[in-house]
Amino acid sequence: MNWRLPNSLQNMSNNLIRIGDIEKFSIVDFPNKIAVVVFMQGCPWRCPFCYNQSLQNPNAPTEAAWENLIHLLEHRKGIIDAVVFSGGEPLLQDGLPQAMDKVKTMGFEVGMHTGGYRPEALQKVISKVIWIGFDIKAPLEENRYKEATGGAGQVDKVKESLQILLESGIHFECRTTCDPRILNTDDIYKIADELSTLGVKEYYIQKYRPIESDKTTKESDCEKFFQDEKLIAYLKTKFAIFDVRK
Ligand code: SF4
Repeated sequence: MNWRLPNSLQNMSNNLIRIGDIEKFSIVDFPNKIAVVVFMQGCPWRCPFCYNQSLQNPNAPTEAAWENLIHLLEHRKGIIDAVVFSGGEPLLQDGLPQAMDKVKTMGFEVGMHTGGYRPEALQKVISKVIWIGFDIKAPLEENRYKEATGGAGQVDKVKESLQILLESGIHFECRTTCDPRILNTDDIYKIADELSTLGVKEYYIQKYRPIESDKTTKESDCEKFFQDEKLIAYLKTKFAIFDVRK
């Protein structure tokens, strides 16, 4: 699947990017920075645990616009340190490099959350960002990635993006949402082995909180990853920085 925004929505003169929503103030989305979070519209994946399903359709109407972001930033100088481009999948939109350039010229640092769907697009922005949060959805095998992304897969692109990150030398973290419907503790061991072998230094596991349509997953199912002391001890040995997010 080659998933791109329609040309008509790319690089519009006054709208460098399509924005689904804007978080005006966050202290948890960019390490040690007070950030504005830009939720970009459109995502090629369909993760069963997605908390932002309204961002998936690239053509869905949105209320937030590029002008809203610029207006907000003009009034937040001195209060906000950084802008983090999130999603959806920010790498889908060809206007991302120009959007990053614009907020940098306004004096803000730039970060990004991504699953690495378009390595060629990542290459274009890697020199513009100072930090990336990189989602690892499953062990790095196509069949497992397909299970974790509603059939979309494309693990080769994820691996290529990860390699770009490793070679860039920029600060980045990898993180996995532990959805017990698609992952088990053995999968987390496997992901940790794969990432640490590649040279990843910072890794987090995140608790899945059942989305509204999930009526069957129990709290104990979600907790099992975090209560497994052997797993947690193992993960601490594999990474210079490891933690849990619950
Ligand atoms: S990559 Fe993120 S936005 Fe896209 S479907 Fe998965 S969880 Fe949702």
